[in-house]
Amino acid sequence: MNRNRATDHSPALNPCYGDKLWGSWGSDARLRTSTLLLLGVLLLGAQGCTTFSGGAGYGQKENSDVINRIVRGQNVIFISAHPDDEVYVSSLLGFAADYSSGTILCATAGQSGGCFLAEASPLTLGEVRTRELAKAAARIGVSSVVYGCKNGISMAHPNGTAILESGEQAVARWIAAGEDKETAEQAVARWRGECPEFAAQLRKKINSLRPCIVITFDPEYGMTGHNEHRALSLVVQELFNAKEKKNRVSDDVSLFYVIHPDRAKPEDLRISSAELTERGGRDYVQNALEAFAVHESQLGPTGSPGNNQALADYRHLAETLILRPVQ
Ligand SMILES: [Zn+2]
Repeated sequence: MNRNRATDHSPALNPCYGDKLWGSWGSDARLRTSTLLLLGVLLLGAQGCTTFSGGAGYGQKENSDVINRIVRGQNVIFISAHPDDEVYVSSLLGFAADYSSGTILCATAGQSGGCFLAEASPLTLGEVRTRELAKAAARIGVSSVVYGCKNGISMAHPNGTAILESGEQAVARWIAAGEDKETAEQAVARWRGECPEFAAQLRKKINSLRPCIVITFDPEYGMTGHNEHRALSLVVQELFNAKEKKNRVSDDVSLFYVIHPDRAKPEDLRISSAELTERGGRDYVQNALEAFAVHESQLGPTGSPGNNQALADYRHLAETLILRPVQ
């Protein structure tokens, strides 16, 4: 796999996958044992996930403004760190697919994730997860691009092959490699070495799709506390704040952070999937969950208890998307 070359996948290609175990700790969705939960809380200071019960927001007019912009043809871009991160915004991406277009720009192939695939694969985990992302994107109706940044600093197999690895084994591996100690800033520096052209590639891709709505993680918490979610936000911030115009994304691009319900502020926007469905005529929550389910390497086989539990845990995030306008 050429780690320094972005790979485009047409929506028609194939499936996607779910979020890395690590990234799930903060939102509690992928924990399989109480031991894992305890480890996650201790390592990341993560909060338990509570069901969002609504909030003031700017009001219906402002919440609907994002929807109206999409109806008028503005594209939606989600910049993610790992295949399966798109679950946080896939209901809105599905709506965008019906009115304009949606694109998932994923920094890494999720090479360091755990793997619940029981069958030995000749593919690397990064290749498996890239395929899962493409399949999920196809379900949503959008396209996906995976860039050459690397996920984490350890792999379950020396050659990166997708071998079965339990959550406990993955956690032990991350700790042994010191992944839990890497800061967001250190991840940004590591990515600069692994994929020096990443930021420029992102900027060019965004500008080619403008005017558009760009959504990424917030730099403080990144939905789950994952350092690479936060690192990605720092990279995107640089693209929007660069002094020289040639290094900056176009001024007609709007930036939003996707916010975890536990971290939402009254002024954040609440995008209701019920409104999306009312206007678009499709069940965007169901579509989002079906797309999430294809990340079998992270969730277990479709229809398995683990996969079903993950869908149940993430449903409330698909039902109400919380966005923070940045610029
Ligand atoms: Zn993630």
